[in-house]
Amino acid sequence: MNNKLVAKAKAVVSVFDHGFLYGDGIYETMRVYKGTVFKFNEHMERLTQSASMIGLDIPKSPEEMKNAVYQTLKANDHKEAVIRITISRGAGPLGLDPALCPKPTLVIMCNEFKPYPRRYHQKGLKIAFVNTRRNYHKSLDPRIKSLNFLNNILAKREAKDKGASEAIMLNYRGEITEGTVSNLFFVKDNALCTPSMGSGILGGITRSIVLDIAKELNIPTKEGRFRPRDIYEADEVLISNTSMEVMPVSEVDDIRFAGAPGRTTKALSRAYTAKAAQYIKTEKR
Ligand code: PLP
Repeated sequence: MNNKLVAKAKAVVSVFDHGFLYGDGIYETMRVYKGTVFKFNEHMERLTQSASMIGLDIPKSPEEMKNAVYQTLKANDHKEAVIRITISRGAGPLGLDPALCPKPTLVIMCNEFKPYPRRYHQKGLKIAFVNTRRNYHKSLDPRIKSLNFLNNILAKREAKDKGASEAIMLNYRGEITEGTVSNLFFVKDNALCTPSMGSGILGGITRSIVLDIAKELNIPTKEGRFRPRDIYEADEVLISNTSMEVMPVSEVDDIRFAGAPGRTTKALSRAYTAKAAQYIKTEKR
């Protein structure tokens, strides 16, 4: 926390922190494979973009942040881990003005990676469309990975009520956006399709890797604006994020995708694992 290694029980933030009071802050979650942080630079770029979109100064340079992340990782001695960097506006008197908070709060957490149950990757997840719409991009732009997560929490509650592990949110125009913590893809006529950035989504790091992999495997890709019917009529559906990587979907609402994971999902998943393995070989510290 703020340049010091602090034991978990003592890692506490002020009740006056505007991250706590108003959700004013940003974060990143990164995966560590065999002691190496995967795609650190890409996560730092996104953190920098989030910071600039809310007018927040990141209290460390990317290199200093990298050192702090590795220090935290070392102190926890996890080889397979998830790192979370949180930067909040900091403590200040009540009131929304960011200028009330002179110093941002920086927290780097390291948690051991707990693999998902094998059956998730082997058989796929159930996901469901929900009524909660993704934040309108001119209200709270989904490109900001902010601490203000109530939009997604409401969607998650709805998904859980439907017995689903992840939600699919639509935008104000009724187009598909993303999950509460994941990006969404589907395969139709052998093309890998995913909502475009213009649909109002977070630009997932995993999403870009999956799109790159598809290109390498000569799988045609389509980034565009899609409707729920496109998902219902898809041949395969999958979701992605840093922790899940490529995760097959077996059911969307009442539609079952028999045979999940399908051929394309399997190919993307295999290639993703290989890419991560290759990355840690070359980036090993
Ligand atoms: N979309 C949302 C809303 C998210 O919160 C996340 C990750 O937490 C993602 C997509 C996937 O992003 P990434 O692949 O960078 O983990």
